[in-house]
Amino acid sequence: MSKTDLEYDVLIIGAGVIGCAIARELSRYKMKIGVLEKEPDVSLGTSSRNSAVVHSGINYAPGSLRAVVNVKGNAMMDVLCADLKVPLKRIGKLTVALTEEDLPGLHKQKAQGEANGVPGMELLDNEGMRRIQPGIEGLLGLWTPSSAIISCWGLTIALAENALANGVHFHLNCEVDGIERDGDGNEKTFRVRGAGTTREARVVINAAGLHCDEVSAMAGVTGAKIWACRGEYYVLDKRLDGSLKTLIYPVPGPNDPGLGIHLTPTVDGNILIGPSATYIPEENREDYRATSPVMVDLRREGLRLLPGLAASDFIRSFSGNRPKQTPPEKGGNADFVIEETAVPGFIHLIGIESPGLTSSPAIAERVRDMVGRHIPLEKRDDFVAERPGFVGTFSDLPEERRMDMILDEPEYGEIICRCERITKKEVRDAIENPLGARTLASVKYRSRALMGRCQGGFCTPRIVRMLRDEYGYKPEDFFVRGRAPMFAGLVREGGNGR
Ligand SMILES: Cc1cc2nc3c(=O)[nH]c(=O)nc-3n(C[C@H](O)[C@H](O)[C@H](O)COP(=O)(O)OP(=O)(O)OC[C@H]3O[C@@H](n4cnc5c(N)ncnc54)[C@H](O)[C@@H]3O)c2cc1C
Repeated sequence: MSKTDLEYDVLIIGAGVIGCAIARELSRYKMKIGVLEKEPDVSLGTSSRNSAVVHSGINYAPGSLRAVVNVKGNAMMDVLCADLKVPLKRIGKLTVALTEEDLPGLHKQKAQGEANGVPGMELLDNEGMRRIQPGIEGLLGLWTPSSAIISCWGLTIALAENALANGVHFHLNCEVDGIERDGDGNEKTFRVRGAGTTREARVVINAAGLHCDEVSAMAGVTGAKIWACRGEYYVLDKRLDGSLKTLIYPVPGPNDPGLGIHLTPTVDGNILIGPSATYIPEENREDYRATSPVMVDLRREGLRLLPGLAASDFIRSFSGNRPKQTPPEKGGNADFVIEETAVPGFIHLIGIESPGLTSSPAIAERVRDMVGRHIPLEKRDDFVAERPGFVGTFSDLPEERRMDMILDEPEYGEIICRCERITKKEVRDAIENPLGARTLASVKYRSRALMGRCQGGFCTPRIVRMLRDEYGYKPEDFFVRGRAPMFAGLVREGGNGR
């Protein structure tokens, strides 16, 4: 078989933000690209389970790969998000020293930031901090104006959709369970098995997140080892939108596995409290439960940081697991590993924990250059960088534009999700997404329906009815997020479910 007969030039395993950013970057060039994802949609792993902060780059040792891709990725976000219609807000961040003991750590972060090229940093006394965030307490604060918040699932989905529009093939529900390499000399080919089908490619990229070490082992690459470290969060109601003007973080300790529990406003107007950091047993790296002791701690911390909080402000919890290279007894963090392995043409990305979201566009360029050693990087002249649509939801648009859009498309005039004011047209667009992903989570992440205060109490039956009546869904076709069915069956045979 000659090289040009192969189904793919490049196969990417994993459709989180890293796999999708790489797919989109490679789609600028003349090559055949496939993405294999075990879940029924993109962005169902760590990429939709994080703080959604675009970090400035003060946290990582100068010269480390994490520092380099963090600062570069941050700088790339404005253009990328404008092209892909992804919400991004440059609200800046205050890292606050509360006690004398925190001061060395704060100065260390500033020195790291200077060495890493973080723009616009300032040390602020209490008065200076209060000009940014009224009422804040602390001895000294490090202000990093380049810190931002973003829609994490919005970015991943947009990267995937734009990659798809530029010719990348996505194979969802395709769990890779075997990788072989055969052929002689330069003609060597990978055979990647997933969901009963074997696909061939010249280059394989392992962007499998929490399972990256297992996928590397399939290709005969040993030495990588991942421990999952869970971060749990509370989500606060949008009633508090505007009460946090910026990101507020504590100074992290030297061996902390994360950046400490903090308050994070989201681009949608909620506030997150978290994340905790707990190593979880090896058997299930994707155990995303929220545990009662951690929730109690987060609630206490939330009330300390925002004393006016009411019990009804805590609307839900979630968690995300860090793919750590450091074992529990060591803690702390290790640098990202992004390299072509001892198996030529097999590139792996190991331990892409924070700031992986921020770094994703810079990581994609780095991986592109590695691919370029095997496949010529010949630019396509029909690459389209922009994604159609608008940033945010229909209800964020100016009234006049909304009126025009309702005249053209009456379903913009019908509200399906009352809490988030999401229209039937937005839900329909989410259902008819180009990747063909049809779980309730797919609709939720694309439209924001189901994300409000009632957590789907009002809109779930309406969305279910739409899928049943307009798309012919049977009870067994409904899935919430992964592959576990939503309904066991009909309560009353022949009933219309109304
Ligand atoms: C609590 C927490 C907070 C964080 N906060 C931030 C932050 O504020 N800012 C920031 O920049 N970063 C943050 N991060 C880090 C960031 O979320 C990750 O670096 C990033 O999402 C990693 O993306 P990924 O594509 O590598 O992984 P994932 O999103 O996990 O994607 C990997 C994909 O591979 C798939 N897969 C696995 N095995 C296989 C297989 N055998 N076959 C096919 N598919 C497979 C999975 O299903 C998954 O979809 C945080 C992380 C956590 C856990």
